[in-house]
Amino acid sequence: MDQPILPPALPEDLPREKVVGITTTVPIEVIHAAGRIPVDLNNLFISHEEPLELAEQAERAGFPRTCCCWIKGIYGAIHRFGIGTIIGVTRGDCSNTEALLEVLEHEGARCLTFNYPHRQDPAEMDGVIKELAQAFHCELAEAESWREQLAPARRLAAEIDRLSWQEAKVAGKENHLWLVSASDFCADPERYRTQAEAFVSAAAARHPIEHRLRLGLCGIPPIVPELYEFVESVGALVVYNETQRQFAMLGPASSLAEQYSRYTYPYGVFVRIEDIRTECERRRLDGLIHYVQSFCHRRIQDRIIRQSVPVPVLTLEGDMPGPMSAQLKTRLEAFVQMLASQKRGGALL
Ligand code: SF4
Repeated sequence: MDQPILPPALPEDLPREKVVGITTTVPIEVIHAAGRIPVDLNNLFISHEEPLELAEQAERAGFPRTCCCWIKGIYGAIHRFGIGTIIGVTRGDCSNTEALLEVLEHEGARCLTFNYPHRQDPAEMDGVIKELAQAFHCELAEAESWREQLAPARRLAAEIDRLSWQEAKVAGKENHLWLVSASDFCADPERYRTQAEAFVSAAAARHPIEHRLRLGLCGIPPIVPELYEFVESVGALVVYNETQRQFAMLGPASSLAEQYSRYTYPYGVFVRIEDIRTECERRRLDGLIHYVQSFCHRRIQDRIIRQSVPVPVLTLEGDMPGPMSAQLKTRLEAFVQMLASQKRGGALL
């Protein structure tokens, strides 16, 4: 299988003073409109050659061992790459972000917050996007023009997703990487667009990936992306990445308020479940992996998800980046075998 041709998470020649680190998906169009460059700190952390070192740096700075590794990695990445301005989402993402921002502010960083409204309401969303624009001294109209500029890149991400589930020509990990990277378009939307275009042409010309089972992955993006390759090695293909697809905002929208109101991730588990159920059916999934992160509050929602989706669910917990543990592999393999035996002619490849 070809490796994804993703641009680097942070181009080396990018002046650091232009960078705005984001702790999760926010209206990046506003940041671009202000002449700054949004960089998703999660992507910066996990694509680093030594991500564990970044997490350890946070522990040395006082973050507890029982703090989620993504938060520690974000902290380490901010320091390693010298990022001075950060937008943290303190409503609609992570309960730990508030404390993270306090630490960063204490250390001298400029920290702003973005709070998703409590419900999917375009009028309320319009209000919080305008507040963000004011903080960056730019006009909403300029941000809307960036929405249009980013549309071709989002259309290509949508095509990569379509090639995954309709034609089986894109591997699960490739789907994951291209979609998760659309949260900031690898700090260079034009380069992302060009390389995504090349990837789509190459993938469209491939033969479909052989598989007996179609799986989805819901929950936060896994800290151990190797699980996609392992799933393929035992005869299944991941054709749905819930959160990564949400990050990429694939559908057309007539305004930023509409685009960011449709995004399900900040609005609680029931809104997410509606989306997951739709995609389970549309993509004809045989099963779902619910990825949960060690020490993450979202794990509490696991039972609701398991009891609300129309396919069998395997809950898989990851802690730190690195090779998959033997236990994770065994559980994944057993899940795939169980699903295979439920299908007519159940034997795997
Ligand atoms: S995995 Fe959970 S605890 Fe960690 S950053 Fe994400 S939402 Fe927060």
